[in-house]
Amino acid sequence: PMSSVSVVGLGAMGTALADALLSAGHTTTVWNRTPAKADPLVERGALRAGSVAEAARAADVVVVCVLGYADVHALVDAAGDDLRGRVVVNLTNGSPDEARELADKVRTLGAEYLDGGIMAVPAMIGRPEALVLYSGSTPAFEAHREVLQVFGRAVYLGDDAGRAPLHDLAMLTGMYGMFAGFLQSAALVRSAGADVEEFTTALLVPWLHAMTSLLPRMAAQTAKGAYATTGSNLAMQVAAQDTLEGLGRAQGVSTELLAPLFDLMRRRVADGHGEEDLAGVVELLHRP
Ligand code: NDP
Repeated sequence: PMSSVSVVGLGAMGTALADALLSAGHTTTVWNRTPAKADPLVERGALRAGSVAEAARAADVVVVCVLGYADVHALVDAAGDDLRGRVVVNLTNGSPDEARELADKVRTLGAEYLDGGIMAVPAMIGRPEALVLYSGSTPAFEAHREVLQVFGRAVYLGDDAGRAPLHDLAMLTGMYGMFAGFLQSAALVRSAGADVEEFTTALLVPWLHAMTSLLPRMAAQTAKGAYATTGSNLAMQVAAQDTLEGLGRAQGVSTELLAPLFDLMRRRVADGHGEEDLAGVVELLHRP
């Protein structure tokens, strides 16, 4: 039989999650602090719970998606013993430590815990391009894999509840690095009066795609702590920084976004690693 699911928290994301469950044919119970947000889902066939405890009693799987962990703690306290025997799937954004602490509390109540990191915006939920990272109870993930795959691709990262949020935050970190690069290049192109949209679609996006193919090799270097150059050594790259910074000055574009990275690259060269690859900069960020 298909698992019954409750969704607690019907903001933009919780609503998308409940919507996907209804579309997939799951019996779906919903609860939100502001009850009116449940109305459209109830019209689509969702069952309305009058309290969090009622939502917990109604289902095998209780999906929670609210603003922060403090809110989740309050909801778990309110449901209390009604969570016994259930699986709590917490898709609220938070830190690894917060996830582990909540996992302990949920287990103490006799329920299983899965933490999830949603790598998607609400409009992507239920589509193949959505990715959700999970960690925590292995039996719970295996028993309810089918439900979890309703939201998008479901990737399980092991029984440490903190692993999904760690990978989630690491992926966001990579994304912000990419956005920083985009903002800097858009500012340069705009300062020259050129067409930023055309530059972006015709040139920058394909270039960034090509550059992402270097990441697996850089990752292997990082894993080994060995950075022998494969063609573009750090001293050469640092020499070109003057040109990049000079262009910023000439165009009246601040280079403050790139400055921290450039400083680290210069420090790495000053430390005697100019003949190595860029990946060695990771040694200045973290000592194993
Ligand atoms: P919204 O602001 O749209 O919704 C917030 C939800 O949290 C509402 O249902 C709100 O209830 C509820 N809530 C807040 N505080 C409490 C509380 N103390 N008790 C009970 N319910 C509470 O946020 P989203 O739905 O966009 O985001 C929810 C989670 O999903 C966040 O942790 C976010 O980081 C994560 N996420 C969101 C993504 C996105 O693109 N939207 C992407 C990936 C993750 P009420 O309606 O009563 O205010």
